Amino acid sequence: MLTKNQNITLKIDGMTAEGNGVGHFDGVAVFVPGSALGDELEVHIVKVKKTYAFGKILNIITPSADRISSDCNVSMKCGGCAYRHISYDAELQIKKQRVFDAFTRIGHFENPPLQNVVGSENQNHYRNKAQFPVGQDKNGNLEIGFYALGSHRIIPCKNCALQPKNFEDILTIVETWIEKNNVSVYSEETKTGLLRHIYIRRGHYSKEVMLCLVINGKSIPNEEHLINELKEKTDNFKTLVLNVNTKDTNVITGQECITLFGEGYITDTLCGLTFRISPLSFYQVNPPQAERLYTLGKEYAELTKDDVLLDLYCGTGTIGLTMANDVKKLVGVEIIPEAIEDAKKNAEINGIDNAEFICGDATKAAESLKKQGLSPSVVLVDPPRKGLTPDLISTIVEMNPTRVVYISCDPATLARDAAQFQSSGYALTRATPLDMFPRTAHVETVVLMSKVHTVANDKCFK
Ligand code: SAH
Repeated sequence: MLTKNQNITLKIDGMTAEGNGVGHFDGVAVFVPGSALGDELEVHIVKVKKTYAFGKILNIITPSADRISSDCNVSMKCGGCAYRHISYDAELQIKKQRVFDAFTRIGHFENPPLQNVVGSENQNHYRNKAQFPVGQDKNGNLEIGFYALGSHRIIPCKNCALQPKNFEDILTIVETWIEKNNVSVYSEETKTGLLRHIYIRRGHYSKEVMLCLVINGKSIPNEEHLINELKEKTDNFKTLVLNVNTKDTNVITGQECITLFGEGYITDTLCGLTFRISPLSFYQVNPPQAERLYTLGKEYAELTKDDVLLDLYCGTGTIGLTMANDVKKLVGVEIIPEAIEDAKKNAEINGIDNAEFICGDATKAAESLKKQGLSPSVVLVDPPRKGLTPDLISTIVEMNPTRVVYISCDPATLARDAAQFQSSGYALTRATPLDMFPRTAHVETVVLMSKVHTVANDKCFK
């Protein structure tokens, strides 16, 4: 029996969805963060459950061939990067295996038509967005960084390798402003203090910069000082926004935004179109990969001018709008009102007049669109990790599209949902994973589910 504090020798023979290596000892799965497939390790057991345990690397006896030296000294602490210690090729292999395993084990697909992972040209500095929690250490010193994995302890870090390099300079400007103006920082314990998060967005192509301060209040001291410093020292600084979050909550942003400088949004381009990005709207964090994802989605959708395209979970409308010129009509659905406002503006900015955007929950909105007689030939879905509801899949099936393009950020829920589509008459015809978030454990997948034409259906068409 494995016990806590025991030291064991372990061979890593698999990887989990979270990016931990896993080995087996006396029939018990032992998860080891920071390990690599093929590692032979001396491991200290830190936690034991009935069927699994967690261990910490004490010593690498024989390193995996995939190992490289990590270039970040906080990656094991902040938990953002799961794969900084292995080669990028090995990372892409692991991600493909993860999607394959989900399709075969969860979706019970025998032979999923899975392509290789589309890798990202940039594995560092690819993100266009960061949200840094602000706090104080036990000596009252200011801390800016990231939360440690699974906790709200701040790991100080201003130069994360995934972020654009100039985010560090912006953080330094904010830090100086905090210190010079005695700005209080929020404490989760006492629920007092003003500044909670420093949230930065930067257009990948436009290079426009937005700074959003998430505060427990409605105003900040000496905003002129901050604005002047940002204008002077940050290239393409476009807007400063306050986001009001006075709640005792884990959610980073609140509902209300107050613009102190500029327009309250930045713009950037994707697939040749211009998009407006507000603090509360979802926007793809790795634009060159998002462009590849959309291009693949468009290829899978096989659009013609006769098609009606329903884009569910449309965010600011980006995917659908990049396809709007290829179809007769586009209908987008999204739950965040600000994102729908952005989507409408985005259609206008780009001169697209065959698009309609609806604010609402995808399941409910699809049901009511069906009742109104909408009959899309192509449905595109891009849900958050929890995937689609069984009711939404039923509604989509009842709308009878010939193609369903599913973009997913969670292979497990994708496989589950694809299985429901399959049992409702849609075959999984194409599937490609894409690496939107290099060095982290996340992987996106785009699939095409095509309506299976039965003999009876073919007769109907005659
Ligand atoms: N397709 C967009 C956004 C994808 S992210 C793009 O490529 O940019 C998923 C989106 O789903 C987010 O914008 C989120 O706000 C939205 N969303 C989350 N739950 C939803 C729901 N129940 N109904 C509709 N939209 C939802």
